[in-house]
Amino acid sequence: MILVLLGPPGSGKGTQAKRLIDEKHWPQLSTGDMLRSAISQKSALGLEAKGYMDKGALVPDSVVIGLIAERTKQADCANGFILDGFPRTIPQAEALDQMLAGQARRVDRAVLFEIVDSELVSRLSGRRTCVQCGAMYHIVTAKPKADGVCDKCGSSLTQRDDDKIEVIQKRLAVYHQQTAPLTEYYRKAEKLKVLDASLPADEVNRALHQALK
Ligand code: AMP
Repeated sequence: MILVLLGPPGSGKGTQAKRLIDEKHWPQLSTGDMLRSAISQKSALGLEAKGYMDKGALVPDSVVIGLIAERTKQADCANGFILDGFPRTIPQAEALDQMLAGQARRVDRAVLFEIVDSELVSRLSGRRTCVQCGAMYHIVTAKPKADGVCDKCGSSLTQRDDDKIEVIQKRLAVYHQQTAPLTEYYRKAEKLKVLDASLPADEVNRALHQALK
C-alpha cells in the first residue's frame, strides 16, 4: 500500500501515521521530519530548508522530491509506505506519480484529514514534542505527567519554531493556496477518501482503517 495522508498542519496526520506503523508496519515518510533532522545535523540542505521553514513557507519542490526519491529506494519501502506531508504541491504529486511509474508502482490511496482552521491554531500552538524520542503532547489536551518532561523517556519537551502563532497563520495560508488543490488531483484519480479529523484520535484511527479497505 502506498498511502498519501493529506490535510492541513495539525490535523493529526503524523499521529495517525505513527499508529499505522505499529499496526501495519509500513514506514512513515515525513518530509517535515527529514528536514528537521537535516537541520539538527546542520547539513547544507538543513541550513537551506531552515530559512523557508522558520517563515512557514514551503521548501523548494526539487529539494523535497529529491529526499523522497532517495528514501523510497530503501529496502523497507518495498512493500509500501505512508507519505505524511508530501506531496504538498501539484508538481510534487506529479513528480511522485512519475517516480513510482518508473518503479512499476503507484499511489493506492489518498486520505484527506478534514478540519477547520480555528481548531488547528489551538492544536498547533499548544503542541510540544520530546527532543529525544519525538513523542507528542499538548499543553491542554494531552499533558505530560510533569510539565515540560516526556512521560516516555524523561527528556525535555520543546515547541517547534514553526508552531509559534505568527508562523502558524502563514502555514495555514500556504496550505490553502498550494496544498488544498491536491484534494481535487486525487479525487479525479479516484483515490481520495475523506475523514473527519476533528474527532478524538481513536475514532480518526477507526475511520482511517475504514478508508484503507
Ligand atoms: P510538517 O512537519 O509536515 O508540518 O512540515 C514542516 C515544514 O517543513 C513545512 O512548513 C515546510 O516548510 C517544510 N516541508 C515539509 N514537507 C514539505 C513539502 N512536501 N514541500 C515543501 N516543504 C515542506
